[in-house]
Amino acid sequence: MLARALDVVFPRRCAGCGDGTWPFCPGCSAALVALGRPWCDRCGRPSRVPVASCRDCPPHPVTSARAPFLFDGPARRAVHRLKFSGWRDVAAAFADAIVACDEIPPVHVVTWVPLARRRLAERGYDQARALAVGLGHRTGLPVARLLRRACSTGPQARRGGAERRAAMRGSFEATRAAPERVVLVDDVLTTGATAAACAEALAAAGARRIHLITAARSFHDPVPTLRVRGGRAYPRTGARPGLWLPGEPPR
Ligand SMILES: [Zn+2]
Ligand SMILES: [Zn+2]
Repeated sequence: MLARALDVVFPRRCAGCGDGTWPFCPGCSAALVALGRPWCDRCGRPSRVPVASCRDCPPHPVTSARAPFLFDGPARRAVHRLKFSGWRDVAAAFADAIVACDEIPPVHVVTWVPLARRRLAERGYDQARALAVGLGHRTGLPVARLLRRACSTGPQARRGGAERRAAMRGSFEATRAAPERVVLVDDVLTTGATAAACAEALAAAGARRIHLITAARSFHDPVPTLRVRGGRAYPRTGARPGLWLPGEPPR
């Protein structure tokens, strides 16, 4: 209710450009790169033909990974608004896109990659938790904290995949016993090092199938089947059939 009332006073703007209509204006909607079939069955990387796994698959024990969007253009800017600019509602827009894009695997609980305490204090909310709660609302699945940060880790940005993974190992621990099937939510999947560290903690606590769901995804190499507008590294192909964004009529 309060959110709606605030909407009237401070109408939400496009999460991509910050100027057009919420959640993504027509220009930003057209520039979103949706990730769809045919793809790698395990990680959802678009592929010319369906494959069971690929070299972009996140490390075990992550069972599978899915994301509605390539981490580029408006999706990248929207994630940054969610993480760094206090646009908490962007989590709801991404949750809508997640449930519209693919079936959520049958799981016992939805949990998330917890933010470091210092960042949580700076930001006021945990963006991955906001995504997980949005997903729980839309699917009816229970949402529960299962993980905490075991120790603070250094900056990750300049580390390579293997190095990053080694650095992340042991950086999360389970807060309690985990059920057998879990959806693990994070904002972005890049190397999978963070997700793998979380999955290891969940597996040690009893989880057997850990499905990673993120708002967006980046890949080591450009995906040949994704045509990108404007000649960037990831040209786009156009809206994915069935992709629906809140506030946008189905196309
Ligand atoms: Zn826009
Ligand atoms: Zn894969």
